Amino acid sequence: MAGLLSGLEQFGLSNLENMDLYEAPKKEEKGPDGKPASAAMQEQDYLFDKSFTCPICDKEFKARTVRIGKVKLSGSDLDLRPRYEQVDLLKYDIIMCPSCGYAALSRFFKFVTSPQAKNIKKTISTTFKPQKETKEIYTYDEALERYKLTLANAIVKQTRASEKAYICLKTAWLLRGKAEHLDKNLPDYEAQKKQCEDEENEFLRNALEGFLAARQTESFPMCGMDEPTVDYLIAVTAMRFEQYDVSSRLITGILTSPTANPRMKDKARDIKEMLMKKIKEKNAARK
Ligand SMILES: [Zn+2]
Repeated sequence: MAGLLSGLEQFGLSNLENMDLYEAPKKEEKGPDGKPASAAMQEQDYLFDKSFTCPICDKEFKARTVRIGKVKLSGSDLDLRPRYEQVDLLKYDIIMCPSCGYAALSRFFKFVTSPQAKNIKKTISTTFKPQKETKEIYTYDEALERYKLTLANAIVKQTRASEKAYICLKTAWLLRGKAEHLDKNLPDYEAQKKQCEDEENEFLRNALEGFLAARQTESFPMCGMDEPTVDYLIAVTAMRFEQYDVSSRLITGILTSPTANPRMKDKARDIKEMLMKKIKEKNAARK
């Protein structure tokens, strides 16, 4: 944008040089928690308190939960991250016991073996500071803390690689959502965005490593995903980190798989095209 209005200085209007041609929507009034008041109202309208019983400490607690039927899917990213119109569902996918610190993705919350419970009690609950669950909505940073606690729980309970990889994948998606929702008027907007991207990449690298390991040792479905879906996810993520051989191999597998559905094959064909372009570019750069 810089430049469109540059030169206004000679009219004594240099203060107007940075105006946006297409005015951004007016900034909304801030609520007491620093979030836009009306946006906060909207988000909480899609949430309700759901009761859970903790499988570790047996206490009952409530967690904010999204009214699934009310939110609309607006699309998905190349790596299948779902985007919703009204609320970022990922923020509410962690169930955390505020008494003992046990936290898990909702899909895994109920499944804890007794040795795992023992480990969590010993390593997490003994030092965990009980939390108050009074929040109406979660900010991205609060959601991020919940994901990190979930990953810590997963490591402590020595769960399967696929579960840990899935937590990393969802944390990466959450960070992408955070970056998209950053206030562009923040003085350190660029720095914050860069930090989100760096963290997202770190979580994606760990997700990739975990899914590759899980693929060798676990059976499908994995975290609710069939083999072509997991392979697709790995292929897209491997492509991001320029592991083109891994990516190509899996895409070929999907395209020749008798079980992959036509939609997944279409997606795989798109990735194949992107891959060929990237490999060509890489080879051209080498010359
Ligand atoms: Zn508990």
